[in-house]
Amino acid sequence: MNHFDYRDGVLHAEDVPLARIAEEVGTPVYVYSTATLERHYRVFADAFAAHGLEATVCYAVKANSNLAVIRTLAQRGAGADVVSEGELRRALAAGVAPEKIVFSGVGKTAAEMAFAIETGIAQINVESLAELELLSQVSESLGAETRIAIRINPDVDAKTHAKISTGKKENKFGIDLVDARDAFAKAAALPGIDPVSIAVHIGSQLTELEPYRAAFERVAELTRTLRADGIAIAHLDLGGGLGIPYGAEEPPPPDAYAAMVAETVGPLGCPIMLEPGRMIVGNAGVLLTRTLFVKPGREKTFLIVDAAMNDLIRPALYDGHHAIRPVREAASDAPSVAYDVVGPVCETGDTFAVARPLPEMRAGDLAVFASAGAYGAVMASTYNSRPLVPEVLVKGERYAVVRPRQSYQDLLGLDRMADWLTEADGPISLEEASPDAESEPPRRAAGADG
Ligand SMILES: *Cc1c(COP(=O)(O)O)cnc(C)c1O
Repeated sequence: MNHFDYRDGVLHAEDVPLARIAEEVGTPVYVYSTATLERHYRVFADAFAAHGLEATVCYAVKANSNLAVIRTLAQRGAGADVVSEGELRRALAAGVAPEKIVFSGVGKTAAEMAFAIETGIAQINVESLAELELLSQVSESLGAETRIAIRINPDVDAKTHAKISTGKKENKFGIDLVDARDAFAKAAALPGIDPVSIAVHIGSQLTELEPYRAAFERVAELTRTLRADGIAIAHLDLGGGLGIPYGAEEPPPPDAYAAMVAETVGPLGCPIMLEPGRMIVGNAGVLLTRTLFVKPGREKTFLIVDAAMNDLIRPALYDGHHAIRPVREAASDAPSVAYDVVGPVCETGDTFAVARPLPEMRAGDLAVFASAGAYGAVMASTYNSRPLVPEVLVKGERYAVVRPRQSYQDLLGLDRMADWLTEADGPISLEEASPDAESEPPRRAAGADG
């Protein structure tokens, strides 16, 4: 469920018409709904409480790391799952309590480890023996006793897209289940390390419970083995990955997921951590775009919009499907046209949808790519020197620009000239090179919706 609905024929985010945001902020722009974020967090967290589980929901920041989004969730009680020092800094800046932060990822640097230890976060999830040894050195040098989880690779097929499957033995993540017992014994013996938890995360956009069940059963068995070995596993980190409906898929509801968790690891009687990302933010965001041109081809009709693969890469990277909804509601009997919906970037891969039936669109018409709140803005780049798109957070009748559109000044200002290129003619001034660079990129002229 989300809070993007038609009212009086115009698509709204909560109580704000999207045409108004397009007019005032320009397009393309990401728009997030506070009510949807809060609802998803609440439904997820409540499901575990209802099944008698003591659960900390550590929102996976990589899905959407805007400070205002993280803070919205932190204010409801969320912790954070981070995968870099940058994300850790974001979580702290947004007000997440350090004792609710876990640090995951296969390639942490010594500097990142030291920063995390000094910050006093809940736990560092270790993914290899080499990482374990480095962490021990860093922790000991700081006089710390660092609480860790060892992430195991349970070798289960998450039945999701190959690029977001993480729990098979050929994936780079975690320590193979068969080696886990030795890894824990090693961790228990190392200075500066306190092994307290087992972590698992088998992939993203999972639409079935069975892969989870298989993984959690293996975690439960390992927990019993380790306890018998004298290693006090105090809690479990079960990762994220619950899918959302982008199109026809029907992912299990949080309640069924929580029931399965209660069945598999409930009897161990230990608190759990969960790391949902997509499930919380995916359907809480849309990418609002404006049609630039309709280009009839000999075999196809292209709808060329002002958003592109650099703004939303999921279709190009993962064959991701996003529902496309016109901002102006079409009559129920309006004829539909099959469009190839494409962006302006000079790549054939810059295609959002192929032969997608939509009501007839004209230049200037607005539309949204739905379910773009997760792995959208965070994956944006400036490819083709397109400034990063803005992000807007709606709450009821209000909205705030929670990330302004990048200016051309900022975009060009990232580069530096090599000395030898300026020796002959003197320095180049950005203002001269790009006269209007100080101003924001121009907004699109208001079209039929505006
Ligand atoms: C990406 C990731 C998550 C979140 O995955 P979602 O599919 O967005 O729920 C959780 N934990 C870890 C370790 C991750 O890498």
